[in-house]
Amino acid sequence: MNIIEIIEHKRDGLALTKGEIDYFINSLGDNTITDYQVTALLMAIVCRGMNDEETYHLTIAMANSGDTIDYKEYDITRVLDKHSTGGVGDTVSIVLVPLLAAMGYFIGKMSGRGLGLTGGTIDKLESIPGLSTSIALVDFIAQIKNVGCAIIGQELNLCPADKRLYQLRGASGTAHSIPLIAASIMSKKIALGATDIVVDVKCGVGAFVKNVEDCRLLGNTMRAIGAKCNINVDYIISDMNAPLSSYIGNSLELYGAIEVLQGVRNNLYELTCIIVDKLLLGFGVECSRELVDNAISSGAALAKLRDMVVAQSGDASYIDDPYKLFSTTSKSEVFANRNGYIAAIDADSIAKIVINMGGGRANKNDCIDHSVGVRLIKQIGDKVKIDEPIAELYYNEYSHIVYLKSLMDAIKIERNPVKYSLLLSE
Ligand code: URA
Repeated sequence: MNIIEIIEHKRDGLALTKGEIDYFINSLGDNTITDYQVTALLMAIVCRGMNDEETYHLTIAMANSGDTIDYKEYDITRVLDKHSTGGVGDTVSIVLVPLLAAMGYFIGKMSGRGLGLTGGTIDKLESIPGLSTSIALVDFIAQIKNVGCAIIGQELNLCPADKRLYQLRGASGTAHSIPLIAASIMSKKIALGATDIVVDVKCGVGAFVKNVEDCRLLGNTMRAIGAKCNINVDYIISDMNAPLSSYIGNSLELYGAIEVLQGVRNNLYELTCIIVDKLLLGFGVECSRELVDNAISSGAALAKLRDMVVAQSGDASYIDDPYKLFSTTSKSEVFANRNGYIAAIDADSIAKIVINMGGGRANKNDCIDHSVGVRLIKQIGDKVKIDEPIAELYYNEYSHIVYLKSLMDAIKIERNPVKYSLLLSE
């Protein structure tokens, strides 16, 4: 067997055997495959697809490419996880992780940094000075046992095959393949030892998958992989045409998550509740909303976020006084140019504004400015009056004032109200 034959088999539309898939993933590990051979095979997979069996074998081979966690060795029987396929203003993880821990569940997450339009949980958390998401595996597990929750970056040797494939997919136009996305997500969950997972499959212009049918196919593929591995996998399909929350930009999004843990009710709260509800169904909890509201109103969920920040060496004064997260030198407002209703907020354009102000990265190793961002004062469906403020731009360089015009163009106001649905399918 050699890698050229494997590429040719997929190019010619054959199903790859388990042996061929294992050979491919092993050669990633020992570096005997070049980037151009990897991308040739990825492109053949994009064009020819993979059947369920191939996708399963790929997932398992990727999951076993590095360390794996078995929580039973640590007397923990169930560990929850959630995953989003990537969105703008999507801070669900920072709300949901401490919330579930405050409700008595164990949850351990491995999250990424922002790349391209999609923000990253790790960048948002790193708005807190000192906070480390690069911790040893034993400390990660100990923190889950002691605090109930932990969020780490991708520095550990968990699923290294995905790290290389994900980068090459991004750089070779091969990111949008359902078997590749399913294997990428599920391999990380399996390596991390999660037992119950809900995936938030994002649908829309700013998402990996653009239509509901393909989102459903992706969700069902992940569910089937989970069933074979004894992992409860469920999914929702949510809108990714407009930003999920009112804040876009790293430290502002963290502020938005803290606001929800303080009791603010908005789309971020709603989506978090929907995901918690699905996760806890597997525990026989029929309706979790009251439990969620208790964990928030008692202050337990916010206290758990504080505990997690302290455990990961972060400055807890940013949780006690979250206004510290607003640290730009300048702020300017955008005003409604007519009477009417907010009809659309272009997630893509707003993400690009934040990236252009230094809040996101075009290349993996770029440094970012955590403080810049946008606050949406009005959401889709809200009534607005001419000259009323509808959004704010937070920036550090005077030249960034040009983005006020882009921000204004990203928000459409129509005469009549429009319907907006956060959830496209459950
Ligand atoms: N999230 C992942 O972890 N992998 C993908 O391929 C897409 C979204």
